[in-house]
Amino acid sequence: MRLSFSLFFAGCLSPSAVSFVPTAAVRTGTSLKATIEEAKLIPPKKIADLANTAEELYSENVQKTYGRYSLTIKSGQGCYLTTTDGKNYLDCVSGIATCALGHNNPALTKAIADQMATVHHVSNLYYIPEQAALANWLCENSGGDKAFFCNSGAESNEAAIKCARRHAYNRGIEKPVIVTAEQSFHGRTLAALTATAQPKYHKGFGYGGEMVPGFDNCKYNDIASLEAAVERATSDGKGLAAIMLEPLQGEGGIIPGDVDFFAKARELCDKHGALLMCDEVQAGMGRTGTLWGHEQVGVIPDVFTSAKALGGGVPIGAMVARGEAATTFGPGDHASTYGGNPLACAAGLAVAQYMSDHNILENVKARGEQLSQGLEDLAERYPNVLGDVRGWGLLRGVECIAEDITAGELVGAAMEQGLLLVPAGANVVRFVPPLIISEDEMNLALEKFEAAIKLKAGADLQP
Ligand code: PLP
Repeated sequence: MRLSFSLFFAGCLSPSAVSFVPTAAVRTGTSLKATIEEAKLIPPKKIADLANTAEELYSENVQKTYGRYSLTIKSGQGCYLTTTDGKNYLDCVSGIATCALGHNNPALTKAIADQMATVHHVSNLYYIPEQAALANWLCENSGGDKAFFCNSGAESNEAAIKCARRHAYNRGIEKPVIVTAEQSFHGRTLAALTATAQPKYHKGFGYGGEMVPGFDNCKYNDIASLEAAVERATSDGKGLAAIMLEPLQGEGGIIPGDVDFFAKARELCDKHGALLMCDEVQAGMGRTGTLWGHEQVGVIPDVFTSAKALGGGVPIGAMVARGEAATTFGPGDHASTYGGNPLACAAGLAVAQYMSDHNILENVKARGEQLSQGLEDLAERYPNVLGDVRGWGLLRGVECIAEDITAGELVGAAMEQGLLLVPAGANVVRFVPPLIISEDEMNLALEKFEAAIKLKAGADLQP
């Protein structure tokens, strides 16, 4: 495999040479066609043969950017995932708040298959009816006027950041500052990462110790700190371009936004002609019980971003803007080859349709209450292990306060009980199940979580 890849790239570098001599090919160049033919390109491995060797192939061939659990997923159905060794897991992770309709949802599957059989990608050189319909759905169900499509949460935030900078430039601001919150998470591209005010993610990615210029931070839910950051952002020839906030901080540890804090952010943006931007990548698309997290904190942002659940697990992102912000970009100002392609938008439309047809927001509210109550009960019965229960709808977390147990270890113990969970922040166990989860499945999740607590904390902690 390594041989064929090096030859492949050698061929790309110099497509004009004609003869093929394997060892010399890398140095002298060979036509791509000859390289492939002579090197007898190695076909990919059959997935069915990888049941026991996927982990091995990872250590050989995949960059180690993630710490992974030792599970190899083979298939999914509804709220369940099945591993290659035949074990079933109740999935309260949903691909990290992404598979809103669960796994193998017939409506989503059909929409994708039908779109694939019609046309799946054409580029933004042409009009795409599915993109128009999804943009229309987003705007009709929010305060937004116009959408821009991309492929991920980070990319949607990059679009928002660029929009804020151009919007500030149009107002004559040469040094635009975007204020974000400590413990935030906005993605891994360089500007989104700079917006992410968590130093641990910045380490080793700076230039002379600096990340992308033009960002400042405040404490989340702290009005005085926000006012101080805005003061800094509007002094020394700088100007406030935007305040960018998650309505609920997900990766930061499931911390819901405060109504007063968001009202102040809105007021400060209005005062300075800046944009209030909400990152709805995790909290949006119904996960909190309202379609958008900003509805929970009572503000209408100028810009909001969405990804994750927007495509139900098919990669898509969107930056939705209103008012002046909606017309800040003109042709050529921003773009994405895949952005809003027919396949991704068909997935988004199927998710949107399903949410209406099945009253998903009602289910999120009811199951969210059930989850919250269940976690509160457990926290009361295991006061040495569980602390604060936080969140909205089906975006909930419970603090792990046991001295000798981490949230990650509790997640591991839950896995042994057949329940998938994911940590958030330093010490929070996060529950983000598919939005279609049933009452029985939620009861089962709570039972399994209790069994995990007993397993990890020992019999002496039983009530
Ligand atoms: N914004 C928020 C609030 C997120 O939770 C995440 C991912 O967890 C992102 C942005 C980045 O999204 P992506 O991983 O799709 O780039």
